[in-house]
Amino acid sequence: MIWRNSGNRRRVWLVGCLLLAMGPMRLWAQTNAFLDQRRSMVEEQIVRRGVSESKVLGAMEEVPRHVFVPEPLRDQAYADGPLSIGSGQTISQPYIVALMTSLLELNGDEKVLEIGTGSGYQAAVLSRLVKDVYTIEIRQELGQKAQKTLNELGYTNVHMRIGDGYQGWPEAAPFDGIMVTAAPDRVPEPLVDQLKVGGKLVIPVGNFFQDLLVVTKTADGIEQREIIPVRFVPMIGEVEGDKAGDR
Ligand code: SAH
Repeated sequence: MIWRNSGNRRRVWLVGCLLLAMGPMRLWAQTNAFLDQRRSMVEEQIVRRGVSESKVLGAMEEVPRHVFVPEPLRDQAYADGPLSIGSGQTISQPYIVALMTSLLELNGDEKVLEIGTGSGYQAAVLSRLVKDVYTIEIRQELGQKAQKTLNELGYTNVHMRIGDGYQGWPEAAPFDGIMVTAAPDRVPEPLVDQLKVGGKLVIPVGNFFQDLLVVTKTADGIEQREIIPVRFVPMIGEVEGDKAGDR
């Protein structure tokens, strides 16, 4: 009787331990899966096109991109292109994520803002490179899913909010860098206002086709540099209302 009791207790204890270990084991499996594909992605798509900043390459190798794409597309997660994430939106091509990240010229102790969380992938990459990431998504269903993915992967320095990113995140401002991953037809003033002097805004600007711009805030205004032509989904919300008002 005594033996059976302690046997049962041992079994209950073992099952408990197994259940407790399942979370971390799943996380470990998720982050290590596709590691070879991630390494090839970095070499063939990113380094070959000229992004060389080792910290950015490290973050791209570390973050499990496949976890951020819908299940049926996971086997294409490391392909050289954008992918659909639902609600008519896309996760950017890996090279564009790496390029935009490197254009922020991060050191490690920054606070950055992203407009357009989407899947949460870009925010996850940024979270490996800075102190805090603030990210805003206008579509609730995408925002909630991204938050869940980021939580599961333990990226606790990402702060997410659902809403229109046009006005930025004034309570957390000023930022060392801001990245916009949906395209407005002009640079939103409130975002420039929320940059520190010396800070950079990386943003696609235009209508159907856009230019990727780096806007640097200086002591007496801004400096603007065109990087490459790009194609992003449009920024929606307040920025569109302004357009209607202009007509
Ligand atoms: N960075 C994302 C991909 C962005 S797709 C990733 O890594 O997956 C662009 C996203 O911007 C979409 O999810 C879209 O809903 C969002 N968006 C569009 N206009 C917005 C706005 N005004 N404020 C915040 N998010 C916006």
